[in-house]
Amino acid sequence: PATSLQDIIAHAKEYGFVFPSSEIYDGLQAVYDYGQNGVELKNNLKTVWWKAMTQLHDEVVGIDAAIFMHPLTWKASGHVDSFNDPMIDNRDSKKRYRADQLLEGKAEAYANAGDEARAQALLNEMGRLLGENDLDGVRNLIIAEGIKCPISGTDNWTEVRQFNLMFSTQVGSVAEDASTIYLRPETAQGIFVNFLNVQKTGRMKVPFGIAQIGKAFRNEIVARQFTFRMREFEQMEMQYFVRPGTEMEWYNSWKQTRLAFHKAVGLPAEKLKYHDHEKLAHYANAAVDIEYQFPFGFREIEGIHSRTDFDLKAHQDLSKKKQQYFDNDIDPATGKPYGNYIPYVVETSVGADRLFLAVFCNAFTKETVGEGEQQKERTYLKLHPALAPVKAAVFPLVRKDGLPEKAEQIVKALRSEFRVIMEERDAIGKRYTRQDLIGTPFCIAVDYQTLEDDTVTIRHRNTMEQERVPISELKAKIGYAVSM
Ligand code: ATP
Repeated sequence: PATSLQDIIAHAKEYGFVFPSSEIYDGLQAVYDYGQNGVELKNNLKTVWWKAMTQLHDEVVGIDAAIFMHPLTWKASGHVDSFNDPMIDNRDSKKRYRADQLLEGKAEAYANAGDEARAQALLNEMGRLLGENDLDGVRNLIIAEGIKCPISGTDNWTEVRQFNLMFSTQVGSVAEDASTIYLRPETAQGIFVNFLNVQKTGRMKVPFGIAQIGKAFRNEIVARQFTFRMREFEQMEMQYFVRPGTEMEWYNSWKQTRLAFHKAVGLPAEKLKYHDHEKLAHYANAAVDIEYQFPFGFREIEGIHSRTDFDLKAHQDLSKKKQQYFDNDIDPATGKPYGNYIPYVVETSVGADRLFLAVFCNAFTKETVGEGEQQKERTYLKLHPALAPVKAAVFPLVRKDGLPEKAEQIVKALRSEFRVIMEERDAIGKRYTRQDLIGTPFCIAVDYQTLEDDTVTIRHRNTMEQERVPISELKAKIGYAVSM
């Protein structure tokens, strides 16, 4: 049977990957905590992303900007005026929905029933109405399509209203002095406002990039599908500053590079696809999503956008500070330097939590092993060893005769390089199962022979095959497997 999202949620909780936030108070909707294994997996994902973006690209450097920013930042970026989702309430169930998602759901149903043309026509009509901010039109379309509330079963809909997704709070202790600031809804703006700081202090030449990993906050109207859509989440973004006119070249190149990354972390090619945006945001001249096939369908994990000079120009206009770059490369057309311009930006933006969920769903494996009477179900996480929370677990066969001490020596020799743990309790079979469930790629068994010849048995997670290897080779063997 196919893996359901419920299986994933249950496994994530049971084995210390993801817990609902403040669970003893019955949780907080669309907010989650990472547990002891989840934090390791998520940190590993962030590390491989950071390395892929900065260490492997001389011309990309990182920053870590604050979550709070000057309120004018969000005026310039357009978030104050247009970071909205259209919402609609059902009067009978008192449930709130995103009007665009209701229509998209209907279009998906048409497409699933084979009526692609009707699906497309509906999406186009919705795009047109939203583009014109014709909210009554959107409501009429929902009713005309016969869309009912899944809870109450009625179409007793309210009007459609625009809902701003930014969270706001107050700075300043005295009410009169306080002013409203926002929790950043994306990390990108921290990069834009630091563009010249980094360019000047780092003596960066266009094209160059600035990468950042950090929390972002959105008051999502409908929060569903586990960590796919959260109100507090983490983004891994990179803004690449290029000479105007060269942006499509860079857009296409980052499109390829980023897809290759998702394959490298273990997501299979057939579960990944590009989805070009038909309707472009106000700041973009090209945009594509990389989608992954979750148990609930193909959904965006990363966006790649050609943002033109929209952001830097808006910041220049509002701050009255020039956001220009002087390009002293010679333009072959004129024989003179390109001179001053506001760079264009190509951005890659991936959610750490969505990527986590994709990788976790993909790794979750249930299979039947053995034959006849011996047949049983086996569950394991087929994680790339570089991502696994624990790289190796060392098992002394018995808790006596010097085997635990020998195992301890092996753990000590490896643990400055990799996360290695000791597992002494229960029968060997149970210990293997426990490690399978959290995706540990190697289990190392220490037995009586080890005391004689300094060899151990390595058991491989995916194949369950075992091999005898000298202790002296462990570091190199594990090191090779966990590198990416
Ligand atoms: P969606 O259409 O799914 O709301 P978006 O197009 O608004 O996403 P972007 O603003 O392009 O998303 O953000 C870039 C990335 O940040 C997304 O590809 C996604 O991985 C991640 N992301 C955005 N919103 C959330 C969220 N609420 N929870 C988790 N990750 C998110």
